[in-house]
Amino acid sequence: MSTASFYTKQQLEPDLSCYVQTEHAPLSGNCYFLAGTPSILIDAGLEIEEIQPDIVLITHGHFDHTQAIPYYVKKGAKIGMTAVDAQSCGITPELVLHDGSVVSNSNFTIRVIAVPGHTQGGVAFYEGKQGLLFSGDTWFGGDNIGCHSPQDRPKLIQSVQKLKALNPRLLCTGHGAQSF
Ligand SMILES: [Zn+2]
Repeated sequence: MSTASFYTKQQLEPDLSCYVQTEHAPLSGNCYFLAGTPSILIDAGLEIEEIQPDIVLITHGHFDHTQAIPYYVKKGAKIGMTAVDAQSCGITPELVLHDGSVVSNSNFTIRVIAVPGHTQGGVAFYEGKQGLLFSGDTWFGGDNIGCHSPQDRPKLIQSVQKLKALNPRLLCTGHGAQSF
């Protein structure tokens, strides 16, 4: 099912926008578009007609963050995600992400941070110079953390601590509003 047109755009910073599902849309996470060359989209929960990302980076393999991957592949995008989460949702990524991988464009330099717990191969994306943290469903600010199975709780807590230590200027979460 197409998710096109079920979204609104919020301009967060000059080169950073967030596409958010509207209330009647199928469940989907926030999608962040990082303008530049190459252009980068973080998470693919929505089919966004007005953008043509060159690279789509995925925080984790849940469908509300991945369901539009085929749509962007068709538009010519390269998909970047970890091997573990890609396998869990049947994707073969062109860019296989690891802890410490760096993906950059003309405006942003993004470092991949492994944050296992919400999913086994989940990652966050950190733009250190601008203090931007894309935390997926691992951390929603403060003490709000993602869901997890009981045995994964210690891992998730550790991952959240790692992200808190970055002390981001702008926290871009996988769902809900961004916080400064
Ligand atoms: Zn989600």
